[in-house]
Amino acid sequence: MDVQWMQDVKNAFDLVRLALGTASDVKALLPDGPQRQAATAAIENAENQTKIAEASIAKALGYELCKCSFPPTPMLTVGHRMTAGKPVIVFECSKCSITTAGGFSFTRTKSNGP
Ligand SMILES: [Zn+2]
Repeated sequence: MDVQWMQDVKNAFDLVRLALGTASDVKALLPDGPQRQAATAAIENAENQTKIAEASIAKALGYELCKCSFPPTPMLTVGHRMTAGKPVIVFECSKCSITTAGGFSFTRTKSNGP
């Protein structure tokens, strides 16, 4: 699979997050009132839509999704375990730390920190 476009998608999301961060900073400068409430609602909505878009892309790319919250969190590879003599990849949610190992022990090869 072509990795460049995935990097482009990641960069686009990083830019959106940066823009939303800036919008939040600007919002903080507004006096309390209807304008500030409207800005808060718009920013929260945009953040939620961004997470939904990320989850959709993650699903399209075949990532496991954790349903601990909505929008769902993409689960990342953290290790593997042997099942019937074959290695099975184990995924972990960065939000709630649940893994797809189903409570079985597995060989951790990577931490899932930020
Ligand atoms: Zn989770």
